Amino acid sequence: MTENGPAERGRSLVVRTVSELRERRAAIRRAEHRVGVVPTMGALHEGHLALIRAAAEENDEVVVSIFVNPTQFNDAADLDAYPRTEDRDVELAQAAGATLLFVPSAAEMYPAGFATSVHVGGVSERWEGATRGASHFDGVALVVTKLLVSVGADTAYFGQKDAQQVAVVRRLAADLNLPTTITALPTVRDVDGLALSSRNARLGTGDRETALSLSRSLQRARDLVAAGERDTARLEAEARRILQDAGAAIEYWAIVDPATFEPLAEVVAGALGIVAARVGPVRLIDNAPLA
Ligand code: AMP
Repeated sequence: MTENGPAERGRSLVVRTVSELRERRAAIRRAEHRVGVVPTMGALHEGHLALIRAAAEENDEVVVSIFVNPTQFNDAADLDAYPRTEDRDVELAQAAGATLLFVPSAAEMYPAGFATSVHVGGVSERWEGATRGASHFDGVALVVTKLLVSVGADTAYFGQKDAQQVAVVRRLAADLNLPTTITALPTVRDVDGLALSSRNARLGTGDRETALSLSRSLQRARDLVAAGERDTARLEAEARRILQDAGAAIEYWAIVDPATFEPLAEVVAGALGIVAARVGPVRLIDNAPLA
């Protein structure tokens, strides 16, 4: 953070068009300030705020985008139900260190005639790509490309909570020679272990106990690995049992390579346990390094 906060004192904190964003970015560049960007869909919680605080520690300017990206939702009901709390988000983001909020409309991001797609092969295909539909990561790749190109940040901050998204974005940034460093930060959890998510607000009281089975299954796998277990099939069976006993509807539970998201037969250094399950009306994901 600079002493003076936003480079352009007196200008609005929120901008809504790419051209305003570029104008502000040009001023920041003239000041030779380091710029971090934190892409979000809003409904900010401590997980997002940890990313914004980290960005504020490492940069002079922090751009936070808030955009509920329609192209990454394959389920219209999920898109409609997604919480939208812009005024509160702007306040929270600013308090955490954001110096500019980019809050575009869908028409600003995807104007009439928009015809370009961005597809990241390989790493996007399984797990989230398979269960949410192939269009999910295409939507993520497209919006992240547009944001990174528009903001021109030195560093972009993502949460390890969405581990496959991080892997897709790293692949994308490397393949397209994007000049932005991709940084991933650890998952922020509630005291009981539940990974923070904007979707947790939709969990009923009884659902919360069931939801905890995701983090518990990962912890159990970590404990077994620490005790010497290396066989993926046995670890997966044990983890699935924990989710089933709790009443969660498993979409996948797997052990994968953290860069390619290819399944591993044996736990090796860096191996990642990943899980997705439905708890009541809510779809939850979590992950943890196992070794
Ligand atoms: P979203 O608004 O859900 O698209 O998330 C925006 C960014 O915040 C993504 O990089 C997420 O991975 C990250 N994020 C979401 N939840 C958490 C969490 N519990 N801990 C850390 N980062 C998170």
